[in-house]
Amino acid sequence: MTSEQRVVVIGGGLAGLRLADRLGPAATVTVLGEESHVPYNRVLLAEVLAGRYAPVVTALPAPGQALRRGVRAVRVDRAERAVHCDDGTVAPYDTLVLATGSNAVLPPLRGLFEPEGRELPDGVHAFRTMDDCLALSAAVRPGVRAVVIGGGLLGVSAARALAARGAVVVLAQQGERLMERHLDAEASTLLATHLTELGVEIHTECRVRGLVTTGSPTARLPGLRLTSPARRTGRAEAGIRRGDDTPRKVTGVELADGYRLEAELVVLACGVRPRTGLAKAAGLDVRTGIVVDDHLRTSDPHIHAIGDCAEHAGHVYGLAGAALEQADALAAVLTGGSAPYTGTRALTRLTLGGAGQGSLDLAAFGETTPRPGDDVVRLADGTRRTYRKVVLRGDRLVGGVLLGELSTVGALARTWEGGEAPHDLFHLLTDDGGH
Ligand SMILES: Cc1cc2nc3c(=O)[nH]c(=O)nc-3n(C[C@H](O)[C@H](O)[C@H](O)COP(=O)(O)OP(=O)(O)OC[C@H]3O[C@@H](n4cnc5c(N)ncnc54)[C@H](O)[C@@H]3O)c2cc1C
Repeated sequence: MTSEQRVVVIGGGLAGLRLADRLGPAATVTVLGEESHVPYNRVLLAEVLAGRYAPVVTALPAPGQALRRGVRAVRVDRAERAVHCDDGTVAPYDTLVLATGSNAVLPPLRGLFEPEGRELPDGVHAFRTMDDCLALSAAVRPGVRAVVIGGGLLGVSAARALAARGAVVVLAQQGERLMERHLDAEASTLLATHLTELGVEIHTECRVRGLVTTGSPTARLPGLRLTSPARRTGRAEAGIRRGDDTPRKVTGVELADGYRLEAELVVLACGVRPRTGLAKAAGLDVRTGIVVDDHLRTSDPHIHAIGDCAEHAGHVYGLAGAALEQADALAAVLTGGSAPYTGTRALTRLTLGGAGQGSLDLAAFGETTPRPGDDVVRLADGTRRTYRKVVLRGDRLVGGVLLGELSTVGALARTWEGGEAPHDLFHLLTDDGGH
């Protein structure tokens, strides 16, 4: 690659900007980023929502002139090797990189949209972008009744942040437990206890099927007034039609069993879906994500994909660590390095709340639920609210969960990432050796 080679990156998020940074002057890089904000790290959005960080703290190093903010790519012309943008400009490329991230999943709730519309009712927010975060932040105030739908990493972070701002929060989780993709049952229980103590009311195995909004028929029925505190109340039907043009506003959510919860704010934290629309329209191979090989190359050798939108060896990671590793690996590929990308051993780490009391750190990696024949070592301290568990297959560490006490996470993660056999497991669990 020479400095005249034109690399166009679609997406000014974690992966796209890291790649631009790593390429530096080795190429002529243009990053197209549809968001008009200063580029930011969305991992920190919950801290902004909680009021702990100002938005400026989340800023990512931006590649100066290379970044075109507020410009959305709308079409990739593979024959011409050019990207068409929503402002009418065209960006020609020698190499194109798709780093389009993912979208929040909007669940099929009755009343979420009007029959012909795509507008969310007032008070209903996804939790993916800085705009989502700022809108939620403006709407939250002490005592406001909020329902968070989804008990994964996003839902837990949002619930914790809203509670920190004084909202009365109910978290509705369809699954059996919180963060079930990452945590085992015991760790989930500890997490639930922690959130409950912070004032979050948790309902597991609880499916929300609809929204109640102003203008919906049930909102006007006598005898179905929603009561406080935010507990399950009477039976209701979530209607969606309005007879006038006033903006619809959410007043509650309806559960699958017919009960409903009062809500002035609803957060949709139901997962994310890779953004693959441009790739699909351009005829690239797309499954869940945009399929890439070990050189992060799509089915068109001039186009690569990295980050949340990419699918490598059947994995769509959806994690910051993988996005950064893929960007680094692609920079090496594009500048002549030959080491293939072999996948990311992604560690999930979350801090709920500020320093000291009321805060809980957790980390999970690999397989946290043992297979038959695996060995499990657990250390739990009920008084200090700490929990550490590792899963061993033969002499290899295959996964672990740490809650409340993370001093050993570095040493454990290095052992796991290196595929090494831990020689002193107890030491590894209880002491990080000064790292
Ligand atoms: C609230 C929250 C908390 C999170 N917490 C964690 C965590 O604790 N740990 C963790 O590992 N991960 C976490 N994540 C996930 C992590 O943020 C993502 O994995 C990471 O941001 C992926 O980077 P990316 O560059 O692939 O995508 P993104 O950061 O989403 O960036 C993609 C960018 O591309 C832009 N774009 C898309 N299409 C176009 C187009 N056509 N034209 C121009 N621009 C376009 C988008 O607007 C976006 O700015 C969290 C995510 C959220 C939302």
